Amino acid sequence: MRIAIYFFISAFILMCTTRGLAQQAANEGGGTLPVTVNDAAHPCITPGQYAYLQQRINDNIARLHLDKRGYRTTASTTFAWPLMPATGLNDCSYYYIGNYVDEDVTTGIKDYNCGSVTYDGHRGTDICSAPYPFLKMDNNLLNVVAAAPGTIIEKSDGYFDKNCAMSSDTANYIIIQHADGSVALYWHMKKYSLTTKIVGQTVVTGEFLGVVGSSGSSTAPHLHFEVWKTTASADLNDPWTGTCNLLNPATWWIAQKPYTEPAVIKAQVNSIPVVLPGCDTTETPNEDTCFAPGASAKFYIFLRNETTGLVVHERIVNPDGSTFSNWVHNSTTNYLASYWFFTRTLPAIAGTYMYETVYNSDTCRYPFIVNCAALQTPSSLHSPEWSVYPNPATGQLHISATDCGNGAKVLLRNAIGQLILSDEIAPGSGQVAKTYALDGIPAGIYFITFESANMTETRKVIVTD
Ligand SMILES: [Zn+2]
Repeated sequence: MRIAIYFFISAFILMCTTRGLAQQAANEGGGTLPVTVNDAAHPCITPGQYAYLQQRINDNIARLHLDKRGYRTTASTTFAWPLMPATGLNDCSYYYIGNYVDEDVTTGIKDYNCGSVTYDGHRGTDICSAPYPFLKMDNNLLNVVAAAPGTIIEKSDGYFDKNCAMSSDTANYIIIQHADGSVALYWHMKKYSLTTKIVGQTVVTGEFLGVVGSSGSSTAPHLHFEVWKTTASADLNDPWTGTCNLLNPATWWIAQKPYTEPAVIKAQVNSIPVVLPGCDTTETPNEDTCFAPGASAKFYIFLRNETTGLVVHERIVNPDGSTFSNWVHNSTTNYLASYWFFTRTLPAIAGTYMYETVYNSDTCRYPFIVNCAALQTPSSLHSPEWSVYPNPATGQLHISATDCGNGAKVLLRNAIGQLILSDEIAPGSGQVAKTYALDGIPAGIYFITFESANMTETRKVIVTD
């Protein structure tokens, strides 16, 4: 009996170790994120599915006479980015490219940039959700949106959406035909998340199509975005322009992103470690806002396209903007997506601090508070003190405020007074630090208003690209 129990405990420890949790007890560590993108043995769309799709598309077009409606009324199609963070997702970024189109018609691989970010026979661009892909899926935080206007010519929903391997399951997907006759496939979406629009209805650029998921033949939540020049699946296109793109001479992107985009996509501060269990279990970020003075905390960065030779500069910024402490992380290996953590002692003085990280000329910040209790004033008559930073702002805007015991409201308006963003701070909040994503908000002059029970104040904010 004793032997049996010992064996059981050993097996349990081994299981946890293989899941990568043991290293979390260390003061520093990290490595690759549980990156599991499809490969040649696990194609996003199987040959059988292509044949089925072609039949469905042909039937729908004939049934609804879709080729008679605005068919080829424009000469060309251009694409906006097909993912958009939902309200509530304020990370510095949310994706990495797992695979491009394979331009090599033989058994070799070659992406549009003559690199190897693809697998043999891959026909789309895999845009992967990161970090916390299952948490984002569970909470509907990352949306698939139409990259170009067009007509829905095929749609599928209701299939299982947490696959971790090749599957013959049908995905949840939408296929859109554009006015030039070309077609885009949006594949692997979350079950029952798709737009209620039906085959034959039209969509505009940026319109919600569904939530990023892992339905069909998929190894993690991602969007497989595939383009055809016509309604024939054989007429494959590759929207990325580059030396090795043999399918298409010019980019179809309105603003083609760089081949790789090294960046810190999220920074956070924790008292206890994050939990990254891998496919198909929901991750637990354990990020905190309030910390005890002088406590030990873990500072996390999540990187996209970590590149050997680049350096992450990290610092804890005092409330007055000076540096409390700083350190660097040297990249010694290339990763599609990686994470690192560093244990540091927090300041002893109460206040709002900033964890600031800079990588590849890109800055990602995470505000946090030391000694929340000391910063709360019991008197409800006390006016909140608030600050907005940085100003000018790029990518994200942060607000911190004290004495929000009666609750407050944050409103961002553009130069002509249109409401761009609004947020409620719940009563009893005391000291708060909030972050707002500026994705899709054009550069320009804005006005941010902070409203509470006993004060309203507006300040000018400049948003830059
Ligand atoms: Zn794919």
